[in-house]
Amino acid sequence: MPSDLIHDPEQRIQQLRREIEYHTHRYYVLDDPEISDNAFDSLMRELTKLEHDYPQFFDPNSPTQRVGGAVGNQFSPVQHEERMYSLDNAMDEGELGEWLDRIEQAFGRFVPVVCELKIDGSSLALTYENGSLVRAATRGDGTTGEDVTVNVKTVHDVPLRLHEKGMEGIHEDAPSIEVRGEIYMSKASFDALNEQAEKEHRNSFANPRNAAAGSLRQKDPTVTAERELSTFMYAIARDRSLVCTSQWELLQWLRDAGFHVNPDVIRCEKREQVFEFCRSCLERRSDLPYEIDGVVVKVDSFDLQHQLGYTARAPRWAIAYKFPPEEKTTLLKAITIQVGRTGALTPVAELEPVLVAGSTVARATLHNEDEIKRKDLRVGDTVIVRKAGDVIPEVLRPIESLRPSDAKPWVMPKHCPSCGSPIVREEGEAAYRCVSLDCPAQAHERLIHWASRGACDIEGMGEEIIARLLATGHLKDVADYYSLTQDVLENLDMDRVNKKGEPIRLGKTLATKLMAALEESKTRSLARVVFGLGIRHVGKTTAEQLVKVFPSLEALKEASHEAIAQVDGVGDIIAQSVQDFFKTPDNLEVIARLEAAGVTVAEEGEGSSLPQTLQGYTFVITGSLVESGLTRDEAAARLKAYGAKVSSSVSKKTSYVICGEAAGSKRTKAEELGVPLLSEQQFLALVESGDLTSINA
Ligand code: AMP
Repeated sequence: MPSDLIHDPEQRIQQLRREIEYHTHRYYVLDDPEISDNAFDSLMRELTKLEHDYPQFFDPNSPTQRVGGAVGNQFSPVQHEERMYSLDNAMDEGELGEWLDRIEQAFGRFVPVVCELKIDGSSLALTYENGSLVRAATRGDGTTGEDVTVNVKTVHDVPLRLHEKGMEGIHEDAPSIEVRGEIYMSKASFDALNEQAEKEHRNSFANPRNAAAGSLRQKDPTVTAERELSTFMYAIARDRSLVCTSQWELLQWLRDAGFHVNPDVIRCEKREQVFEFCRSCLERRSDLPYEIDGVVVKVDSFDLQHQLGYTARAPRWAIAYKFPPEEKTTLLKAITIQVGRTGALTPVAELEPVLVAGSTVARATLHNEDEIKRKDLRVGDTVIVRKAGDVIPEVLRPIESLRPSDAKPWVMPKHCPSCGSPIVREEGEAAYRCVSLDCPAQAHERLIHWASRGACDIEGMGEEIIARLLATGHLKDVADYYSLTQDVLENLDMDRVNKKGEPIRLGKTLATKLMAALEESKTRSLARVVFGLGIRHVGKTTAEQLVKVFPSLEALKEASHEAIAQVDGVGDIIAQSVQDFFKTPDNLEVIARLEAAGVTVAEEGEGSSLPQTLQGYTFVITGSLVESGLTRDEAAARLKAYGAKVSSSVSKKTSYVICGEAAGSKRTKAEELGVPLLSEQQFLALVESGDLTSINA
């Protein structure tokens, strides 16, 4: 309407807001639009213009403010007035029956229950004051969540204002209303999002649940708005603020108030109905446009709910019946080989990606050659894939009738797919392994292992960054971690491009965090270092046992086979493996560099097993040690093993300066200060004996 025909702009603004909210509700909640998109856009344009011309009528909950409202307390902590509980699970019909028995025993009869779908999304709490949305929060730990109001406002099926009919059901003295439910992403939106991510070479989301949670926590609300999130609301905090007296009535109230309520609900008067509903949901599960992982059964009456109360974790009046493992069929496109950190080769099924039990499965381990033979899996087969909740996916078996006529039985390759070395199968072992020391795939796995939580825990050093550092030549072994610089990390090319097609670099913030994490990782316990080295057969517990007896890497290196084999939980096989590790020159070189970098190599208070004859002496190394070929770090480690200090600059306190070839300014400075110089031969004699008199300085 032309603005000169409007006599009362405030009234027109109010009308338009109501009209737009009404059509938004028809479109997003009822899925039953009354007007065309064009007509809707035209109303929105008129409102936007009027609000612009009459800023005095601004309202943060106007439909124009769904995107672009002021960023308020985004992600700041929100204390839930009433705790957001988790749910107890029933893993099968038997456990569900037991829960129903308990309820029956409590009341001496079967009491009506409401069954709802268990939506696989993220919990959400919406607070309304005087009918207006004032806050949206995540569950967090149940007591404290995060403020996500700005982002939730972009979700179209969330009413910014409660509908009149809903307002009627609220007790007058209720200060505010907190409605709870689930925010989720439909399967279609999830697929579209991941397709887009793939095109832009961005990481895809594993499942719709993560995608919903991730989208909700976007710093930029316009990104959340693009993500097509939806909600299903099903609960209220402080149920006494409403006139309704049961879950069933609450669901009706939620619909009246304008919320999106899942239509797949049932009120059961008989026990058998509960089981029937669960079975029917399970059958319909894959046809639903969103992911569910079970059915939630709730005692209907609020009064009875209050009588049952809560455990520390969950309400006694509700239970989540979890669906059994889901099975899907898909194509086995290839069987590839994954090389582990100790060289073990594991065949992996490369599958046509398929959504199973809430997440996309594209790969699954096939364990070993025998397993593949037993199941007779062949490339080209249509296979049955299974997954239970968060459990690792599994290829169950092929459907032989669908097998292509030319599909051949699979055989293990003869060479390592990463480095081409011949592979071996040791007596009595199911696994084949690559025994090459230079295998890049093993190096990659060793680097991941060192950085992992149980080992030296370099926070933020994920697989992708490690792969890029390896590919760009900055990492070869675990000691290389400690030569990384801020500059190298900051400029690391991530082999991906942004929306504009420019290469993505790691960037300053992450690089700074990683540098701090690397520093921190040097201080881990000796047991974690021993575990982190990735010695074959030496797991976390074995590492802990070993360091109790051998409190330094030096001591472990010098230990005899018998002494190692006697350690609790260690036998001949592990002892052999430890000795093999310490006999390998490459490994010793890595250890020397770790030590030089300041990584823990001995339990506190435990030095090296060598006599500490150089304690109190400070050395500086300059020039290159051409004769021995040692790096400065290695040379320093040799000196430190006798208790010496190694410094990088010459001062009056320096005891000796070791001069290799082409020694420069440090040598000059030493001469000026009268600090004695040592040649490389003298240095070698010194680290051989640890005896200062051997050098004839
Ligand atoms: P869990 O996280 O497995 O302990 O399950 C509890 C969660 O299920 C709750 O925190 C809700 O976020 C979610 N949920 C999904 N659908 C429902 C529903 N209809 N009723 C109650 N909780 C639900």
